Amino acid sequence: MKKLALHWKILIGMILGLIFGIIMLQIGSGGKFVTDWIKPLGDIFVRMLKLIAVPLILASLIKGISDLKDISKFKRMGLRTIGIYIVTTVIAITIGLALVNTFKPGNGISQDTVVKLKEKYSSNEKIKERMAEAGDQKQSGPLQFVVDMVPDNAFKAMSENKAMLQVIFFTILLGISLLLIPEEKAKPLKNVFDSLNDVVLKIVDIIMLSAPYAVFALLATVVVTAEDPDILLALLKYAGVVVLGLFLMIVFYSTLVGVYVKKSPFWFLTQIAPAQLLAFSTSSSAATLPVTMERVEEHIGVDKEVSSFVLPVGATINMDGTSLYQAVAAVFIMQVLWPEGMTFSNQLTIVLTALLASIGSAAVPGAGMVMLVIVLDSIGFPADLLPIGLALIFAVDRPLDMCRTTVNVTGDATVSMIVAKSFDKIHDPQPKEWDDHYDQV
Ligand code: ASP
Repeated sequence: MKKLALHWKILIGMILGLIFGIIMLQIGSGGKFVTDWIKPLGDIFVRMLKLIAVPLILASLIKGISDLKDISKFKRMGLRTIGIYIVTTVIAITIGLALVNTFKPGNGISQDTVVKLKEKYSSNEKIKERMAEAGDQKQSGPLQFVVDMVPDNAFKAMSENKAMLQVIFFTILLGISLLLIPEEKAKPLKNVFDSLNDVVLKIVDIIMLSAPYAVFALLATVVVTAEDPDILLALLKYAGVVVLGLFLMIVFYSTLVGVYVKKSPFWFLTQIAPAQLLAFSTSSSAATLPVTMERVEEHIGVDKEVSSFVLPVGATINMDGTSLYQAVAAVFIMQVLWPEGMTFSNQLTIVLTALLASIGSAAVPGAGMVMLVIVLDSIGFPADLLPIGLALIFAVDRPLDMCRTTVNVTGDATVSMIVAKSFDKIHDPQPKEWDDHYDQV
C-alpha cells in the first residue's frame, strides 16, 4: 500500500466507499449510520481544503507576480487566459448542443415519468432554494458582477469563501505594487509570502494523506443520500448524453496537451488524477483548487507565474463541464416540457447565456443548477414550468455534478499548460530536495 501512487489510493478509497454505501443501504438504519458517523470525516476534509485556499492563492499569486520581470507580460497573460477560457467554454457548449440535438434524450420521457417526477420533486426544498438563489442573481444589474469583483474590505473578502475573485483582485494589486516599490523595501514581504507558499503547499501534502479515507466517506455519503434508482433509470439517456459530452471534453483537452503542449496526454492525466478524483468526490472546484495548484506546479511543471493566476481564476470562472451540462439540461427540459421553444435562435441564446452562466456559477456543489434557471429564463421558458423542469433533472444532478466538476478542474489545468507553453513557462517538474512528498510517503 505504501508504494501505491496517490491516485490509486484515492481510487481504492472511492470504490470501497461506494461498496460500503451500497451495503449500508441494505441495512435498516445503515443510511443514518453513514450520515451520522462517516459523513463528518468527508466534511472535515473538504473544510480543510477550503481552509487553505485563500492563503495559497495569496502566497502563490504574490510570488508569481513578484517574480515577473515586467508587468506588461502579466497583462498579456491575463488576456490570453480569459480568451482561451471563453473559447474552451464555447466549444463545450457547442458539443453539448450537438449531442442533445442528435440523441434527443427528452423524446424518450413518457408523460407518466413527468408526472411522477413532478409529484416527487417540484416542491422539494433544495429545488426551491436553487430557484430563490437564481431569483437573487437575476435582480442584479448587468455590470454588477464587475462591481462584485472589487472588495471593499480585503479581510472580509478573505473570510468569505464565496469571494474568490475579490481575493484575486486584492492579491494582484498587492503583487503589482510590490513590483513597483524599491527592491530593498519589497524584499522582506516577498520573502514572507515565498515562505508562506512553501508552508501552504506542505499543508496540502499533509491534508492529502487523509484523502483516500476522506473520499471513502464522501462516496459512501453520496450513495446513501442518492435518489430513487427507478428514477435514475428513466433519466439514463439524458445523463448518458451529459457524460458523453464531458468525456469528449477530456479527449479534447488531452489532444490539446499532446498537440500544442507536446506532452503525453496519458502522463498529463496521471499527474492530474488526484485533483480529478477529488473534484469528483467533492463536487467543488473551489475545494479542489489547492490540490489542482499543487499538482500543476509540482508535478506537471507549470511555472508559478502562470499557474498562480490561471488556476484560481479558472476555478471561479472557467467551468466547461458546467456550461456543457447547462446546455444539455436546458434543451432536454425544453424537449420534454416546451418543444415549441426549440428554435434555432433560442439555441444560439443558450450558447451566450450558458457561457455567462458558467462564469457566474460558484465553484460549489449544485451551483450549475442555480444558473440553469437563468439560462432557461433568458430564452423565455414559461415560469410556471420552471420548477417542473428542475424536478425533471434533479434526481441525477449530484452524479452529474461530480462528473462536470471533474471536467471543470481538468479544463483549468489544461489551460494553465497551454498558457505556460505559450510563454515558455513549462519545465520538467523538480520535486524539492527536502520534500518527502506524499507520493513517496
Ligand atoms: N460543482 C461545480 C464546480 O464546483 C459547479 C456546478 O456545476 O455545479 O465546479
